Amino acid sequence: MLPEPQDTIVALSSAAGPGARAVIRLTGPAAFSVAGRTVTTERRLTRLPKRSLMAGRVNLPGLAPLPADLICWPAPHSYTGQDLFEIHTVSSPPLVDLLIGELLRHGARAAEAGEFTLRAFLAGKLDLPRAEAVLAVIEAGNREELQDALGQLAGGLASPLRQLRSDLLDLLADVEAALDFTEDDLSFITSKALLDRLTKAMAIVTNLRRQVDGRAVSQRPFRVSLTGRPNAGKSSLFNALAGKSAALVSAEPGTTRDYLCQRVEIQGIAMELIDTAGLAAPTDELDAQAQALGGDQARQSELILFCRDASAKRSAADVQSSVGPAVVPVWTKCDLAAPPDEGLATSAVTRQGLDQLRALIAERARRHRRPALAPSLSRCRHHLESALGHLRQAHQIALFEEPPELLALELRGTLDQLGEMVGAVYTDDLLDRIFSRFCIGK
Ligand code: GDP
Repeated sequence: MLPEPQDTIVALSSAAGPGARAVIRLTGPAAFSVAGRTVTTERRLTRLPKRSLMAGRVNLPGLAPLPADLICWPAPHSYTGQDLFEIHTVSSPPLVDLLIGELLRHGARAAEAGEFTLRAFLAGKLDLPRAEAVLAVIEAGNREELQDALGQLAGGLASPLRQLRSDLLDLLADVEAALDFTEDDLSFITSKALLDRLTKAMAIVTNLRRQVDGRAVSQRPFRVSLTGRPNAGKSSLFNALAGKSAALVSAEPGTTRDYLCQRVEIQGIAMELIDTAGLAAPTDELDAQAQALGGDQARQSELILFCRDASAKRSAADVQSSVGPAVVPVWTKCDLAAPPDEGLATSAVTRQGLDQLRALIAERARRHRRPALAPSLSRCRHHLESALGHLRQAHQIALFEEPPELLALELRGTLDQLGEMVGAVYTDDLLDRIFSRFCIGK
């Protein structure tokens, strides 16, 4: 069962916990009046003609008024299509609880997971692929996924789809009009025009499918990079994990000039192991290029093993600064010296810690979840395939001048498939499944 869309709902929509600011979001027919019972501004809040940002105060029982920024978006020009009100105030968990408690007491209901986005969808502000893209943006685990999700959110698929549906609806209307005039058959549209319109529709669907395929996250395996200072023992660890002398090991710092990639299987999981150039100040142009290449590889990995030589002297520069992939510090050459701290202790010589390291890598690879957009894209692909099947049938029917009733049937089949994609045809069950994956406040 979908939640009642006419309730006025409230939720904290910024991250929970202490922070710079908390955003409490209200939407529904009574959003402004409920908010008006707790916040005050110079203007009356009951009905505001356009989007406004106001400085105001939050009045909580027993507390001095708190400063707040208040933003309101009157219906229908809001995310949810309904009156929407945001209170931006100090992010203190007890305060936020108290404020939400007050808003509930004044008639709002606590929002369910994804309920704001569900309302946007029901108001026709978002189609299904875009709603899923919102979810994917929220869930995006890395930069690539985020790019995919943002691309989808920008409506790359939505607008050609909408255009195609509208063309096909016109065509269906023409075909159905012709059904009423049995003698003239399809004289409403010449058969050449009919074939042209169907061919154009097939071309658009094929193109859309290509777009979806292009977005599909590549099937490349889980990627693990070894980084660290030159001579940290990366290549030796790489060889020990890869099981053969794929990387050249040398006592000269900087032997791995750019990077080496080896497909390996660890606990039955296929993955790529990458040995990168050391992280020291480059000595020449070639070295700088090698480091840049190795750095790119590391950034495109799902896991970085940051190798530190347990027997070497520490220096301030021996710190990995990395954003993006998960970094696991690994001590190397532990046969020469005891590791200075708790980190994973390994030795390529005695093979100490290698099983543990393999187990850790395998566990991370298993945990590496499927990209958020994958289910959405595969569903889109399925609908596009089916739509194309119906269009091919329609084209055959038109070509051999078979009864127009059959043509109408295939056109309706195509529209249903495209409708599933744009969200014009949906079931409560489907919506429930999608929106319940959102978090509260989104
Ligand atoms: P990289 O520059 O980080 O790839 O480092 P290498 O793997 O080329 O190793 C640098 C030096 O350290 C070589 O002389 C290796 O033989 C030595 N080395 C690497 N791993 C170990 C180890 O576990 N124990 C010992 N004793 N020496 C090691």
